[in-house]
Amino acid sequence: MQTHQLVLVFGHIIKQMKRRELFSSLASSLKGEKKQEKLLRPPYFGDESLFHKECNKCDAKCATVCEEEIIKITSDKTPYLNFSNGGCTYCDECAIACEFGVLKIDDKKLLRAHVTINKNKCLSWNHTMCFSCKDPCLDNAIDFKAMFMPVINEKCTSCGFCISRCPTDAIDVKVL
Ligand code: SF4
Ligand code: SF4
Ligand code: SF4
Repeated sequence: MQTHQLVLVFGHIIKQMKRRELFSSLASSLKGEKKQEKLLRPPYFGDESLFHKECNKCDAKCATVCEEEIIKITSDKTPYLNFSNGGCTYCDECAIACEFGVLKIDDKKLLRAHVTINKNKCLSWNHTMCFSCKDPCLDNAIDFKAMFMPVINEKCTSCGFCISRCPTDAIDVKVL
């Protein structure tokens, strides 16, 4: 085989290896659960200590009324949000349903979370076209720089709707 042919074959093998590494790292990331140090509470609380004082008297009303079904209940009976199937519409229903003053409409605020795209896991950042996160974002908070580099901008409300739509689990939520 000629030298230039060898260089071509070698280049092709390296390309295939890189592609395999990328997809195996993307696949393994799908299996892992995201670790969350703090709980992400519904967007209507003023005092964290009230969850521990009051929620054990309640039969999880907020979780029952949430149409998005994103409110889950911990073993100590306090509510937290899980975006694996949806996001928060800020509809107020959980606050209206809370009879114990833990969630109140007067305390409404944006969710205390910072949402970012992990460039190592994101398909677009790894040269494979994907716009899956863009459509569910009604706040137009994801900019695609040069078509392939999605970045979350300051319009993000931390609603979480983009998270379950990402095929490689590349959107991270940090609870503040
Ligand atoms: S505001 Fe609405 S969508 Fe958000 S957690 Fe409460 S009930 Fe669910
Ligand atoms: S409805 Fe209020 S008291 Fe009941 S679990 Fe939810 S936050 Fe706690
Ligand atoms: S979490 Fe932010 S980027 Fe994602 S859909 Fe909601 S507003 Fe858009």
